[in-house]
Amino acid sequence: MQQQSYDLIVVGTGTAGAILASRIAENGVNPRTGEPLKIASIEAGPYWKGERRPGYGIPLRRRMITNLDFGGDRYQWPTTGYAKIVGGSSVHFGNASYFPFDTDYLRWQNETGVDWTKDNFKEAVAEITQMYNYHQAPDSTLGEGNRLFRNAARQMGYAPSRSPMTRTNCIYCGYCSPGHMCKYDSKGSSLAYIPIAERYGVEIIANTEVERVLIEKRGDRGTVTGVTYHRGDQTGELRSSKVLVCCGVFLTPGLLMRSGYGSKELLGDKLLVENPNVGNHYNADQVFRVGGFSDEPLLEAGRGTNSGDYFFDYGDPDGDFNLMITSAVTNGIVFPQLAALSEYAPEFGRGHKEFMRTSCTRMSGVMMLQTCPKNSRGRVRPDGSVSDYTSDPRMIQRFQEGEAICIKLLERMGLKRITTGGDIGERVRTFRGAGHSMGSCRAGVDPKDSVVNPRFESHDVDGLLVCDGSVIPRSGSSWACIPIATVAAFAWRRIVQDHFTV
Ligand SMILES: Cc1cc2nc3c(=O)[nH]c(=O)nc-3n(C[C@H](O)[C@H](O)[C@H](O)COP(=O)(O)OP(=O)(O)OC[C@H]3O[C@@H](n4cnc5c(N)ncnc54)[C@H](O)[C@@H]3O)c2cc1C
Repeated sequence: MQQQSYDLIVVGTGTAGAILASRIAENGVNPRTGEPLKIASIEAGPYWKGERRPGYGIPLRRRMITNLDFGGDRYQWPTTGYAKIVGGSSVHFGNASYFPFDTDYLRWQNETGVDWTKDNFKEAVAEITQMYNYHQAPDSTLGEGNRLFRNAARQMGYAPSRSPMTRTNCIYCGYCSPGHMCKYDSKGSSLAYIPIAERYGVEIIANTEVERVLIEKRGDRGTVTGVTYHRGDQTGELRSSKVLVCCGVFLTPGLLMRSGYGSKELLGDKLLVENPNVGNHYNADQVFRVGGFSDEPLLEAGRGTNSGDYFFDYGDPDGDFNLMITSAVTNGIVFPQLAALSEYAPEFGRGHKEFMRTSCTRMSGVMMLQTCPKNSRGRVRPDGSVSDYTSDPRMIQRFQEGEAICIKLLERMGLKRITTGGDIGERVRTFRGAGHSMGSCRAGVDPKDSVVNPRFESHDVDGLLVCDGSVIPRSGSSWACIPIATVAAFAWRRIVQDHFTV
């Protein structure tokens, strides 16, 4: 490590962290000297250095991963399923995500009073559009399944829209479904920011896990002085009066609680600074799939597809109980080892062999997602698990309605053997968290019900900043990756203005 003291330590070089570290380095200066900033960006997972060329990939990354190899707990946190790698979960998100819809901005403002309006986010949206190459896929990339979905939805009176995608020079190999990484770097991700971080001297410290943020207690408040970390057997300490935590919706509250910042109830005598909202107000949309089987192949063999179309069956005017139904999985490639064990496969013999010839392009379905309503909340515990999750009972009714819509759609598309995956009520009731989670260290104007203010500063600990999925007050209809990247692009502007300007 080149130096032990920094102007800023960013913990977690993931979706939000990579954006923040690079842009703060590029646009900020030391406020006392006007000199370029010394920033350390720490990441628990690996960093494969090299020139990023979308469609070709970084040679070292191409050697280290395959499209399918998500690496188990080498590149993934076993407790949460989120990515542990420079670029974070943006490198394996399912490549379907939307800029916040109008109702999402309103939900954030109504929930905790943040001034995160559509107008204030204009520059951030423009930045992420460019950096993630967010655009509508051309119709020529649609598969047969997508076209059947579109026609069936129109016949049922809906107006489907094209899903956006964030890819560059994509060859449509199809192996970019959730949980997979693109070894050719075609998938839009926060890796696009890493060359900026390198150019502006950010020290990316990989394979290094921060154990604690060092907080000095001063009366009821705290002050940040640095972090402790371990890398393999080695442990150490880095000093800074500003620490920006970007570890994601589960691990950010976990790290803060390990550092003594949280609720008295959970931390007992380990408590340094109290804020019961650390880990609280966790919320997420819920996603279910309704499957079906096609007599005919739905896409060209060996060719992947994009995320198809989506439409809304609207709930309340504030966005609660919105159902989004999408063809994101309608003609995705199904991997042979999964097809062979699926409910559609004959168990053995000639029938099984015949089935395997074409089944990978015939197993289909649609996804339905429901926005998280006001009354669904849980708590992230110090180990990153979610407890006490309560789901609004009306979610079940809406999902039942959604299931009926999906079944009708699939029937109109000509699919057979439609499967819903079991009792939806039971699945909603036992839900414990998912990929589009938010709110566990939420931003708000009132310290009584939030952790950071709308400018991403802790209400209680001087020098502590937080920005990732955990600060977004409520999950919306727009999934997670693009909203989180957009909030990060909004946050760096505020952080530079408030902390790193002469
Ligand atoms: C399998 C999967 C599929 C998904 N698919 C979609 C999708 O299709 N569309 C969509 O919109 N969203 C999707 N999401 C959600 C979306 O990808 C995430 O919500 C988003 O990327 C999270 O961003 P973040 O910055 O909050 O956290 P992350 O991107 O996870 O970044 C956190 C980083 O911090 C690092 N870190 C954590 N703790 C420490 C520590 N103590 N020390 C050092 N480093 C640490 C982690 O290793 C990680 O790199 C998916 C998520 C998953 C898990």
